[in-house]
Amino acid sequence: MRATKAIIHIENFKENIRNIRGFTADGVKMCVPVKADAYGHGAVECARAALECGVEYLAVATVEEGLELREAGIKSPVLLFSLCSPEEVEDAVKNDITPFVFDSEYISMFDRSAGKFGKNHYPVHLAIDTGMGRIGCLPEDAAHLAKVISDSDNLFQEGTMTHFATSDCKNPDSIEYTKKQFALFTNSIEEIRKEGLNPGICHCANSAATLDLPETHLDMVRPGIIVYGYDAGDVNAEYLAKKGTPIDLKPVMTLVTEISAIRHFKKGSSVGYGRTWTAEKDTDIAVLTIGYGDGFVRRFSRAGIKVAINGKEYPVRGRICMDQCMVDLGLDSGVKRWDKVVIFGAKSDGAMQTAEDIARMTDTISYEITTVLTRRVPRVFVD
Ligand SMILES: *Cc1c(COP(=O)(O)O)cnc(C)c1O
Repeated sequence: MRATKAIIHIENFKENIRNIRGFTADGVKMCVPVKADAYGHGAVECARAALECGVEYLAVATVEEGLELREAGIKSPVLLFSLCSPEEVEDAVKNDITPFVFDSEYISMFDRSAGKFGKNHYPVHLAIDTGMGRIGCLPEDAAHLAKVISDSDNLFQEGTMTHFATSDCKNPDSIEYTKKQFALFTNSIEEIRKEGLNPGICHCANSAATLDLPETHLDMVRPGIIVYGYDAGDVNAEYLAKKGTPIDLKPVMTLVTEISAIRHFKKGSSVGYGRTWTAEKDTDIAVLTIGYGDGFVRRFSRAGIKVAINGKEYPVRGRICMDQCMVDLGLDSGVKRWDKVVIFGAKSDGAMQTAEDIARMTDTISYEITTVLTRRVPRVFVD
């Protein structure tokens, strides 16, 4: 196996889930999203580990992601968080993937397909857009669509959901917006009940709301990023400690590589494409076999990212290439060829930064740092 790999600490993942469970009341279900290959961590392994922790629902974004779980023998309910194409509906139904629905056309596609496969009590969740501006019906149409579902031949409303746009931002406007979204959601649920219909499992809490807004837990929470060990935006460790509800989330992924060569360069030598960096004095440059083809993306070159080698940090120099990048060791570093390099991850692996630190330096979110790792990076699962 190549030296560039993502070590996935399944025990950290399980510990995060157990710690998050401490924030929800007994009887509140948990849905763990394993979409985008479990935020880059490996969907099947994370799904199995989540189910071992008693998680009731898994979630994916595409039918294919759902099939991957089914092919691995996973039998739990699987929610489909995004919409699928008409030609994917049959595969979804055959494999008991539970869609979010919110319009008559999509509802009847699933109704017909369920009938075709003799599934006369097929679960769907009604999605309500209370302000995310993505999928869902308008709150005022929720009761009508619940009626459309209940009038269908083969479907039943197993659940009702909405999604928050700003629950991870703690400025006054965002807090107010989340409150408004939640009020619209609970009102819609009431409207559905007034029609004599059952909204089923009501759920809206993402990571931030799970940790910070217990009143939004309702029947189920859907924490994503925090199960993988990163803060939910402003709802970070410091914020929660101050609030008196501390949590110690452990990063699940450590990204490692090794030094494939050390080259001695004279002052004035340049490194990499475009010659964006030139040595101001004699130095040793380490060549690493990781690049943007692995998900160590090119724009990190500009952010002054450092990597950890034997407990010390060294800067990446020049542009990150597709398959390699270069690191400045300076003179007499004591670093040797084939030494291990830790890009980000758990302290116990020798990491000096997390995916979240890199995200901050590169103006993105931790989600993206782990999710963009490509197939070429083997995921190695350890306890
Ligand atoms: C991805 C997603 C989540 C999880 O969000 P986090 O911010 O990772 O907690 C929850 N619900 C829906 C609908 C999602 O798409």
